[in-house]
Amino acid sequence: MALSQFVLKIVSRCDLSCDHCYVYEHPDQSWRRQPRTMAPATVTVAARRIAEHATAHQLGTVRVVLHGGEPLLAGASGIDAVAGELRRHLDPVTRLDLRMQSNGVLLTEEVAEVLVAHGITVGVSLDGDRAANDLHRRYASGASSHAKVLRALALLRRPEFRPSYAGLLCTVDLTNDPVTVYRALLAEDPPRIDFLLPHANWDRPPPRPAGARTAYADWLLAVHRAWTADGRPVPVRLLDSLLAMAEGDSSGTEAVGLAAADLAVIETDGSYEQVDSLKSAYDGAPATGLDVFDHAIDKVAVHPLIAIRQAGLAGLCGTCRACPVVRQCGGGLFTHRYRSDTGFDNPSVYCADLAHLVQGVTDPPPMAQPRSPAAGGPADLVIPTPRVPGGAAAHPAPTGTEPDALDPAVLDDLGSGYGSTASVHQLAAVHLAKTRALLVALSPAVAGQAVTAPAWDLLVDFDVTAPAAVRTVLAHPFVRRWAYRCLAVPASADLGHLARIAAAVAVRAGAAVDLDVPVRDGQLSLPTLGVLRMPDVAGPVRLAIADGGFRVSGDERSGPVASGHRPPGWRPARRVDTSGTLIEDTDPYRGCYQDLVVAPRLSAGAAGRWAAQLASADRRDDVGGYAPGVRGLLRAVVPLRPDRRGRQRSATAASAFGAVAMTPVPDAAALAVLLVHEVQHLKLDGVLDVCELVDRRDTRLLTVPWREDPRPVEGVLHGTYAHLAVADIWRHRAGAQATAQYRRYRAWTDHALDELLGLGALTPVGQRFAGRMRATVDSWP
Ligand code: SF4
Ligand code: SF4
Repeated sequence: MALSQFVLKIVSRCDLSCDHCYVYEHPDQSWRRQPRTMAPATVTVAARRIAEHATAHQLGTVRVVLHGGEPLLAGASGIDAVAGELRRHLDPVTRLDLRMQSNGVLLTEEVAEVLVAHGITVGVSLDGDRAANDLHRRYASGASSHAKVLRALALLRRPEFRPSYAGLLCTVDLTNDPVTVYRALLAEDPPRIDFLLPHANWDRPPPRPAGARTAYADWLLAVHRAWTADGRPVPVRLLDSLLAMAEGDSSGTEAVGLAAADLAVIETDGSYEQVDSLKSAYDGAPATGLDVFDHAIDKVAVHPLIAIRQAGLAGLCGTCRACPVVRQCGGGLFTHRYRSDTGFDNPSVYCADLAHLVQGVTDPPPMAQPRSPAAGGPADLVIPTPRVPGGAAAHPAPTGTEPDALDPAVLDDLGSGYGSTASVHQLAAVHLAKTRALLVALSPAVAGQAVTAPAWDLLVDFDVTAPAAVRTVLAHPFVRRWAYRCLAVPASADLGHLARIAAAVAVRAGAAVDLDVPVRDGQLSLPTLGVLRMPDVAGPVRLAIADGGFRVSGDERSGPVASGHRPPGWRPARRVDTSGTLIEDTDPYRGCYQDLVVAPRLSAGAAGRWAAQLASADRRDDVGGYAPGVRGLLRAVVPLRPDRRGRQRSATAASAFGAVAMTPVPDAAALAVLLVHEVQHLKLDGVLDVCELVDRRDTRLLTVPWREDPRPVEGVLHGTYAHLAVADIWRHRAGAQATAQYRRYRAWTDHALDELLGLGALTPVGQRFAGRMRATVDSWP
């Protein structure tokens, strides 16, 4: 059998001295015999071994986890070298899923740059709030590591580094309150949380209060209840795995379930070891006697203990095999089954906990109903009908006068693929109403809070006295994205951003007002205006806003924005002169494009090149009927980091209406096509937000000529709408290449429209919309 996961120990020492560490504090002491770091020659041989194994077994994906000790002790250059070598050998033969597990304390911007550049995602160990984390995760001097870990997590939350933020790993300690720990982890806005039971076995059982047979399950079930009541705002790997297995899916963790383990460790000296946690069993437990220099990975895969871990049910003891919850529990983690007289042929030392946990998660007792938001409980994600003037809301709100639906004639116009200036303006107005509705949904959360309540009142006032300023700021794509995230993940909502929005409106309105505004992650971000970097400040600062500028009270360095003054740390928003479109390289909510990595703040030269190219694209006259869409909807272009393989990448996000993200484009002609393509997605996102075009009960997939994988109907509609416009642009350009492109895109559009119109998966409105597209294509020669 093949192995597809490898833990690469690039450093064997650590800068912390956690007393629960299985590497240094448990029976196996082999770290003392290991070199401090993995030599470059060993990295090369290991990379070759993994590549030859991936090739021989035709592995589609291989996961390599850079580990230690503490891998960040290798430094930015060391990590760069290791990752580069792995990519050099593995990228040509498989998809390399490159990860790191770290304590985070040495994470710097320089290291984060390297992580992003190599596509490395990092899991950070954190056991909860400061009190919880300080129980074990300290320096040898006894000093706390907590503040440094939080600083690392703030760095990973920055949009340009967020793609490298994999999540948090928390080791359970019964002395900590489970819900407090869960909330402290959630506050760090992780993409994922995992809980780990402390490594133990029958010889060294885990600490537990006398008579508390299921104390660990009870602890985890308390987390499960809070997580469920919150609407499961973030994946929790252990709980998600148990739920998935109850539905018949496979587990996502070796801690539970019967899936075959397919992991090996490569130590700093090049020796292969079994799973790392075996170090908690006995000295020498993980050893295999094999190494990368003399042995292929196939030899490791047939090692007796690895073979047992791959045997699923057959590899378990008789008690487990007869257990009613064995398919979900899987006998627990292999390491936790050890006993010196019977080896690993036992149930887990957490057996009672696991049985109770499986039952509690998959068949929970009836819970009290969550309280309504008005009663102070968690807010569900509700996107209400946009509020109209005079409508009832819990609190006075910026109401606006935007329409909340598209006229049928506008829908017909947009359905043609084009869209007049008037139609596009109505679409933009409907979406502004949507953003207002999101704000109204947030109003119970912000009312009565010291920082956000005055900001809310200001916004309501400005909506009357300075409506244009309110509209400009609320129409910013990442204001909407922020509001959406607050509602989707209330437990980690950055509600203080409302004060930054109000401050931006006040500056634009030329108002004179003092306002307390929170600094987050060392940045004071004012949407549409820019960002003031304040790395040493945490919490709110008072802004004295006047004459279209602002000062930070008590900080004489800052100065009026409008006068052209550039106080230290102020990074103004840049915009394209001809169109007013922002080149958005500062907003903290711009990192919303899945695996695409947003570029950090551009240099003045790079920003100038973007601006010049966007202005040239704007002046081109070959985008015909699509120009109103680009001019009326495109509010921000988000530069992405260049793709490592040199591919052109671009994207839109439905929750960031008005923004297009893209890697640098070779010339203005190509940029014009790309902008039209992406703005078509924006237009259709906008329509789909207020009109049902697709029957959502229809889950059929369609094969399309532009993708290898079958696509859902809505995805095909999106692609067709974009390709129609691209075909049309090439239709108007001269030359053999343009003709070839036109034929290609037109053929794709024709094929997809035939499929869509014949499938019966569109609503009547959707059928009419697609019919309008058909009429446009049929009108071309
Ligand atoms: S940070 Fe990790 S490797 Fe280092 S001592 Fe703590 S648990 Fe062990
Ligand atoms: S609950 Fe206990 S007996 Fe059942 S599978 Fe898990 S460890 Fe084995």
